[in-house]
Amino acid sequence: MVTQANDAAPHEFNPWLHVSSLIENAGHLLGLDQGMIKRIITPERVLEVAVPVRMDSGEVEMYTGWRIQHDTSRGPGKGGIRFHPSVNADEIAALSADMSIKCAVVNIPYGGAKGGVRVDPTLLSRGELERLTRRYAFSIAPMIGPDRDIPAPDINTDFQVMSWIMDTVSMLRGQNTPGVVTGKPLSIGGTLGHAGATSLGVTICTVALLHGLGRDIANERVVIQGYGKVGAPLVKLLSERGMKVVGIADIRGAIHVPGGIDHEVLSRHFRESGSVVGYPGSDTVPAHDLFTIPSDIAIPAALGGVITADIASSMAATIMVEAANGPTTGEGAAVLASRNVPVVPDVLANAGGVVASYFEWAQDLQGFMWEPELFTQRLEKTMHEAFNHIWQRHLDLKVNLRETAIAVGVERIAEATTLRGLFP
Ligand code: GLU
Repeated sequence: MVTQANDAAPHEFNPWLHVSSLIENAGHLLGLDQGMIKRIITPERVLEVAVPVRMDSGEVEMYTGWRIQHDTSRGPGKGGIRFHPSVNADEIAALSADMSIKCAVVNIPYGGAKGGVRVDPTLLSRGELERLTRRYAFSIAPMIGPDRDIPAPDINTDFQVMSWIMDTVSMLRGQNTPGVVTGKPLSIGGTLGHAGATSLGVTICTVALLHGLGRDIANERVVIQGYGKVGAPLVKLLSERGMKVVGIADIRGAIHVPGGIDHEVLSRHFRESGSVVGYPGSDTVPAHDLFTIPSDIAIPAALGGVITADIASSMAATIMVEAANGPTTGEGAAVLASRNVPVVPDVLANAGGVVASYFEWAQDLQGFMWEPELFTQRLEKTMHEAFNHIWQRHLDLKVNLRETAIAVGVERIAEATTLRGLFP
């Protein structure tokens, strides 16, 4: 069950109620009527599934999974699937609404959806992970499809998980169905460029924000929370553009390297040791002190809800770019706003991933693979256009980049909803 405003636990950060209130405020800013605002907030379809898995021991373990389609007025649902012990209906609902806004902000023909299973995948064998994935895919199969809802990787899911989902759906339907998921390996309908696309989009937004603020890129010091699918490629991309990554955190701790981290050395160190901690010549800092490291740009690139009021008030950086989904709590955002810290919100900053998914899906539907240069050129163009549009609108609307991005997303969803009317 997705929590309704009246049932909420007071004083507890609830990502779903937070996103709902952001959409509501955007609706008021745009002058939408209350009926339209309610229609946009309310998720279209919420599916909760039981996922029984036969463990290697022979015992059967039960897990719970969800797939939520938030809005499909602009196109089929689109959004990742995450496997994490903290997954719940409210988190998935919030992330599905973020996807509706994100796809509208970068103007690609999708609605928003999200899915997840409440599980710690690090405790599963490969066989158990495959059986969990296939059973979950089977349970949400009636709801997904190339023209219904297209999952993708998210936290703790990757190209292998997508391959199993694609295979499960293809077996069920008796036909090869590559367009049912994105983030697949090349050999079964994936696309070159998908893997680093989110990080490339974050980099484009970071550079564009610095330009917009009239700041020089060279020697801007960056701290990144997370060294995973998004954080790791970021170190390389930002360094190549002249920025200096001076701090990174992963689950084991944070490192501080005032002179800047060498991405090749770090990637070798991580491969050998499994953590950023211990990078040659670094100081180790407690993970929660990452954002206090002297720096100019903060990039959360891991879990949601981490930029709380406390973290925001002690943050050293003067700008923030949200590579993770939903990293900032409402109170955290208020503190950053009061400190005049410009923030590129997740729905714009990390949209490179879903734009890449759109290009992969388009190639699957066409049955025709693009040249890699075309992919990169179109990705960069889409991200630049989206950033420039939001930047310009925020100057016109005189509200911050987050409020602007959500307003632009809501405006486009409202337009599609109005044009389509109300069935029946
Ligand atoms: N999980 C990514 C996101 O949150 C990608 C979603 C997709 O490609 O559908 O944006």
